[in-house]
Amino acid sequence: MLPRGMIEVVSTPVLLLLGRGKDPESERGVDCPGDLPAPSDPGLVERARAAKEALGDRVFVLGHHYQRDEVIQFADVTGDSFKLAREAAARPGAEFIVFCGVHFMAESADILTSEAQKVVLPDLAAGCSMADMAVLAQVEKAWELLQDKGFADSTIPVTYMNSSADIKGFVGRNKGVVCTSSNAKRALEWAFSHAEKVLFLPDQHLGRNTAMLELGYSAQECVLYDPHKPNGGLTDEQLRGAKMILWRGHCSVHGRFTLECVNDARERVPGVNVLVHPECRHEVVTAADYVGSTEYIIKTIEAAQPGSAWAVGTELNLVRRLANAHPDKQIMFLDKTVCYCSTMNRIDLPHLVWALEELVAGRVPNQITVDPGTAHYARVALDQMLALP
Ligand code: SF4
Repeated sequence: MLPRGMIEVVSTPVLLLLGRGKDPESERGVDCPGDLPAPSDPGLVERARAAKEALGDRVFVLGHHYQRDEVIQFADVTGDSFKLAREAAARPGAEFIVFCGVHFMAESADILTSEAQKVVLPDLAAGCSMADMAVLAQVEKAWELLQDKGFADSTIPVTYMNSSADIKGFVGRNKGVVCTSSNAKRALEWAFSHAEKVLFLPDQHLGRNTAMLELGYSAQECVLYDPHKPNGGLTDEQLRGAKMILWRGHCSVHGRFTLECVNDARERVPGVNVLVHPECRHEVVTAADYVGSTEYIIKTIEAAQPGSAWAVGTELNLVRRLANAHPDKQIMFLDKTVCYCSTMNRIDLPHLVWALEELVAGRVPNQITVDPGTAHYARVALDQMLALP
């Protein structure tokens, strides 16, 4: 075990170049079949506008907060992944949902929308490295281990929204729940009212931060399951004493912020408020002044006093947008180096134009569908989240 406060982080998986090969085990690196317009085409904005107008109410464009400005300008609604999926479900009249986000988000939209609606991801290479860190076969193996050791009956699986439909389906089949970064505490309280242990997927940091900072569990009660090690790298004794069995996954964007970033920001700007997402490492969250979901970060900045200074630890597109929207406040990125979500950034204006023009032409590009069996159980886990007290 690492000493208290020290968190071990796995290295970021290598991203395949766009259009160069397939990785069947992953959401990443999938060939994109489009005949894309050149990024330098000066008519892209006009083409996107014209295609959207031609489609009218038949199309509804969702834009995740971490998307580029060039894409966000065409979003009918912006939000985090769950808000966007619900917005899509609230518009049954929209035949096409164009999801400017990543693959697991489009899957959730497909699960929550009607059969008649088609969900389109403008670039199939827009996966999520965190979602890729928990593959169904690995999770089933971990569950078998818990069954063999006699712990499965006293364990409830909880998965973060940022996971594949397969993982949400697994959780639904095993009487668990989905959570977001806004309701993780309530989801864990519900789970612990029904079981002694939680298997938390796939983000170790959200699980650990919520369990330790909001529910008062100790570092020793939060053990790390590594799918690449025999028995997850855990002894029977560690499993027996665990309340939280944390999957070894993390967000490659939020996992980059370090304690040094926090200390450096405080040195550079005395009195700065440090505001971070709970996907950040435990030592970063502990050192911050404010911690919360993307929506919480936006609301906190909106409510901040003019003249106040903020170092924000979340995706750079969002931080830049907040800085532009609030020139009366000093808003800076917590890290000194650039830190976009590389997969989110794969959705650019050429891909959006291509997807919209394909729809105008009567073709449905890059449709994301979840098989009915998986969708059924994923919906069970999502409904359980909506029913949380
Ligand atoms: S910001 Fe992190 S969790 Fe969100 S899509 Fe990118 S890699 Fe995944």
